[in-house]
Formats: sequence, C-alpha cells, structure tokens
Amino acid sequence: MKSDEALATHFVVTLVYPGIQDQLLETLPMSPGLSKSRIVAWRQCPRRLWLQVRRPELLQTSAADERNFQIGFEVGEVARSLYPDGILIEQRDLSQALVETQAAIANHPDRPIFEATFERGRVLAQADLLLPEGAGHRMVEVKASTGVKDYHLDDCAIQAWVVGAARPLAGVELAHIDNRFVYGGDGEYAGLFRHNPLDERIGPLLEQVPDWVAGARATLAGDDPATPPGDQCDRPFACPFQAHCGANLPQAEFPLALLPHLSAKKREALEAQGIQDLRAVPPDFPLTQKQARVRAATLAGTAELSPQAAVDLGKLSYPRFYLDFESMSLAVPRWAGT
Ligand code: SF4
Repeated sequence: MKSDEALATHFVVTLVYPGIQDQLLETLPMSPGLSKSRIVAWRQCPRRLWLQVRRPELLQTSAADERNFQIGFEVGEVARSLYPDGILIEQRDLSQALVETQAAIANHPDRPIFEATFERGRVLAQADLLLPEGAGHRMVEVKASTGVKDYHLDDCAIQAWVVGAARPLAGVELAHIDNRFVYGGDGEYAGLFRHNPLDERIGPLLEQVPDWVAGARATLAGDDPATPPGDQCDRPFACPFQAHCGANLPQAEFPLALLPHLSAKKREALEAQGIQDLRAVPPDFPLTQKQARVRAATLAGTAELSPQAAVDLGKLSYPRFYLDFESMSLAVPRWAGT
C-alpha cells in the first residue's frame, strides 16, 4: 500500500469533486445555501467557493478526480456495510433528506443512520455515520486517507456545529483507512477503519464556525473575489478552477512544478527571484539529487540513461514480469492477503 502521505493526496473525496453536493443543494428553496463542502472550499480560497456556486461551468475535473470520487464512494459503502441494520437517507432531494432523517431518528432511535441530513442557519451537513449512543448519537466521518489531516478538523467541526445543534452528540470521530489492515476475503472488512475521537481537537474550532459561515456568505453575496493564484491552489486540495484562474498568467515551458517534491519554501524563494522555469534555477540553488537530475536533463534536452540500470537489469533472468503497483491506488483492498 502507498505511504500515508501519498494516500492522503490520492483519496480526497467530495471536497475535490463538489458537483453532486452542489446539485443537491440546488434542490432546496433556500439556494444558494451553504454546505460543509462549500464552507471548506471557502476556507481554501474564497474565490473557489464563488466560482463553484456562480460559475460552475468553469470547473475542470480530471480522470484522476473522478477515480478518487469513485474511491470515496467505495470507502463509504464499505463503511456502511459494517453496520447492516443501518438506515440510508437517500440524497436525491435534500428537503426530503431532512424529513427522512427526522423520521429515522424518531422511529428507529437504536439503529445507525447513514447520510443523516441536518440544517442549521441555512447550512447543511450530512453525517456519514450516526451511531446510537446513550440518549443521542456518535457522529463518524469516514475518510479514505490513512490518517487524520488538519483539514479534516475543519470538516468535522463544521459537521459537528450543524449536527450538534439538532442532536446530542456523544462524540465526534473520524474513521480512516488502517493501512496495516490485511483483507481476509469474503467481503469481510471489519478492522479496515481506524476510529479517532476528535472532540478535543475540534473544540476550539467550533467557536470559529459562525465566522466561517458569515465569511462564506459575504463572499457569495459579492463579486468575483479575483484572488490571485498561489499556494492555496494546491493546498489542501488541487483546486478544479486552476485552468480558469491561471489562464492569463504567463506559462513557463518547464514550470517549477516539474521538479519533484519541490517544497513551497523553495518554490517561493525562486519565484521571489522572478524564476518560473526550472531551466532558470541557479546552479548553486539547493536542490535534492532527484530535482538536480531533472534540471540537468531538462537543460541538456535529452533523456538521462544510467549505464548502471543496464547492468542491474542484465542480472535478471527471463521470463520477466513487471507490475507497477503504484498504478493501482485502492483504498479498499480487493484481493485476500492484500
Ligand atoms: S485556482 Fe487558486 S485562486 Fe483560483 S479559485 Fe482555485 S484556489 Fe482560488
């Protein structure tokens, strides 16, 4: 399985691909309303939220985004399968989802609810898992990452702010993939998720949520914020409006982004010198070995061929089989023993 960091990058779900949640929000009479995803988009960049709502036709998603979206769905389905008596609130119409959630809580207080939908102050949130506990519920957000990330805290704080106003919450947890899990087969996924209580960590953020809501509303009420592209365009998620926002910027033939794992600090240092093209990186600028090789090969205009590679390959006997395991980024293991 990939490293924690790589998985986190690969398996971002609805925050990267907001289309369906946005469409659902339009089913409400109060549109344009706010959702957790929209507020998180605003937290990344106010312009991202503005474009998402006012100019959705400019959004560009890649095949990788769609694949990650499917992975997110798959992770959600597996998480739900671990609670066979759960009730799924269908999402075709959010107004109806709000009604169905209340009915499920009233009629089945002892059963888990999936995608339970709540509204507070015209902000909507859907809880991945709402598990009965005591007189209320424990809320669990399910993520396809392999750890808790800082941006998950914002996400869960917004969720808790909305849901907690309607239901007593016995706790807020984030369930992520446990990358030590080994699938035994037969659809048995108990143990795939590791649950992390987040109550203490989101406590201070809960007080900030009303300010985030107000900020997001102010953004939507105004004109295009015209925020210039910057670090926020890739952190914590690759923004799907980069083609639009960067359309009028001069494009380097070999942008700095081609240097593998170039830190934000180093990129900013280069940009401060007006350097946008990796061929202009000064020879004495501190690069990693890999970055220096990319720079050298780009300057030379030829592929780098390592004589040692031929020596090493020559030691391997035939027949040879090649599997690039990184081309498969499964969050849910599919084969027993993986
Ligand atoms: S591309 Fe960058 S500047 Fe444009 S909306 Fe996205 S995050 Fe904001």
